[in-house]
Amino acid sequence: VLLCIWAAVTEAEYMKYKDPKQPLNVRIKDLISRMTVEEKIGQMVQIERQVASADVMKNYFIGSVLSGGGSVPAPKASAEAWVNMVNEFQKGALSTRLGIPMIYGIDAVHGNNNAYKATIFPHNVGLGVTRDPELLKRIGAATALEVRATGITYAFAPCIAVCRDPRWGRCYESYSEDHKIVQALTEIIPGLQGDMPANSQKGVPFVGGKTKVVGCAKHFVGDGGTTKGIDENNTVIDLHGLLNIHMPAYGDSIRKGVATVMVSYSSWNGQRMHANRDLITGYLKNKLKFRGFVISDWEGIDRITSPPHVNYSYSVQASVLAGIDMVMIPMNYVEFINDLTFQVKNNIIPMSRIDDAVKRILRVKFIMGLFENPIADLSMVNQLGSQEHRELAREAVRKSLVLLKNGKSANKPLLPLPKTAKKILVAGSHADNLGNQCGGWTIEWQGRTGNDLTVGTTILTAVKNTVDPSTQVVYSENPDTAFVKSNEFSYAIVVVGELPYTETVGDSLNLTIAEPGVSTITNVCGAVKCVVVIVSGRPLAIKPYVATIDALVAAWLPGTEGQGVADLLFGDYGFTGKLARTWFKTVDQLPMNVGDPHYDPLFPFGFGLTTKPTKEN
Ligand code: BGC
Repeated sequence: VLLCIWAAVTEAEYMKYKDPKQPLNVRIKDLISRMTVEEKIGQMVQIERQVASADVMKNYFIGSVLSGGGSVPAPKASAEAWVNMVNEFQKGALSTRLGIPMIYGIDAVHGNNNAYKATIFPHNVGLGVTRDPELLKRIGAATALEVRATGITYAFAPCIAVCRDPRWGRCYESYSEDHKIVQALTEIIPGLQGDMPANSQKGVPFVGGKTKVVGCAKHFVGDGGTTKGIDENNTVIDLHGLLNIHMPAYGDSIRKGVATVMVSYSSWNGQRMHANRDLITGYLKNKLKFRGFVISDWEGIDRITSPPHVNYSYSVQASVLAGIDMVMIPMNYVEFINDLTFQVKNNIIPMSRIDDAVKRILRVKFIMGLFENPIADLSMVNQLGSQEHRELAREAVRKSLVLLKNGKSANKPLLPLPKTAKKILVAGSHADNLGNQCGGWTIEWQGRTGNDLTVGTTILTAVKNTVDPSTQVVYSENPDTAFVKSNEFSYAIVVVGELPYTETVGDSLNLTIAEPGVSTITNVCGAVKCVVVIVSGRPLAIKPYVATIDALVAAWLPGTEGQGVADLLFGDYGFTGKLARTWFKTVDQLPMNVGDPHYDPLFPFGFGLTTKPTKEN
């Protein structure tokens, strides 16, 4: 009798879902069968770290936490501080009855860009120029290590938008106006998540262990096609156009095992994507066989209605029925939980839909090994901003710059500049400004101008590092002509462009150079041989000034490793980059993309001059 009781007890206590030797589907099925409605709904909730605590995690069975742009545990928080914060929330999740670990997400869109001292890679607009999938894969791998260094397991990247209009404030998050380039560069996904095993089942995500993170292809779908590039707006295009321009990179991402997809704030032909069942469930899940989970954008479900949040029950219902599995609430989670619970208990939303959502979320958590390794340790903190990653970012900078003009006549190139020039002027609002170099999504949501936000090398410092010790480098942010003339400069490097911005804030109808950039160009370039380096998230209206400039370089938003810019200017390496965007003449031409009938650009898609490395180097 005793033996029977003993056997019964051990049988009852053996929880299949906790056994990594059990097949994935068995673990998922076992766990779901044990869950209450409240526990299931909790898995579907992602809350902001500012409203999270161990108790909240425990009491509401919360499945996920995020840091929105610039939401950090403390200013200049160390990797250790991040790890401790994430672990505190995790312990709350693990202390629930079933002990389901939470997953922590962050916008690591050009490196682990919220973390102080992290390596900041060029924004996607620059990476598109490289057309180098293998480089993107290495960047993904480095980013995964720097994200894991802070205890975080989920990156809301890559953005696979196909930006068709540079007036869009998120154009720099897009690799190219050409979907084929975007498709090729989804190779960042195996970098972030690991290589798919050969025998993978179609659409089933893959995330390879403790040095990798869950990735997120965003924003599904058509985010880069809104009218006039207005953020979160309406994309007017027929189904053929949607499927041929904006959709293809989702197919590639799924083939490469992407674990999550984020829905776009935008509408397609007037219908909010967050409520689009045909595309989310019909196309993404059924046709493309995506088996990971679909996450909403930040308050994305609220914005189904206009004004937002006027009919929250409707928003909850429409988004969950459309096929959204995890909702980035991110603040008023109690309201969401109560509303969804009510709708499920009253059969307004079927239990089968909730089970599907939870199954997908658990699938990702099991696959990535979160149940086996939920608590982060400090063993990876040295990855953050490591020398190796900075070298990689520097390489990416070198490959992402585009040389648009080199000398006033073709047989008299200005670049590369001699390292032994007597006296060089470095000027412009972006020459000695790390914040401007990094752009938005850097430490703060909107980014920030200035040198104190993180650790890196400005272009000015890079120039000083590169020239001969005998060369005098004079820095003046906005010199007047008299100053330039009275000094006997051999050359000038003028670095101007856009100030940091993110999302809607960055929408622009005129695409001008930030003040006083134009006067810096004219003051300097009228008086001395000059190379102008444009630091911007997109092509700018530069046509009126090109004639006065001797050499012109598009540097995009290069990130913390400004040394990569000097590597090219002084010929340690040659320019190789080719435009992955069309450079317009005037803004009234926009939108204008390669292949358009009246294509008349200042510099066409694919354009880029080359230089050879200088021999003496
Ligand atoms: C953006 C997303 C981002 C999310 C979380 C939203 O405003 O549209 O791209 O992942 O915030 O920070």
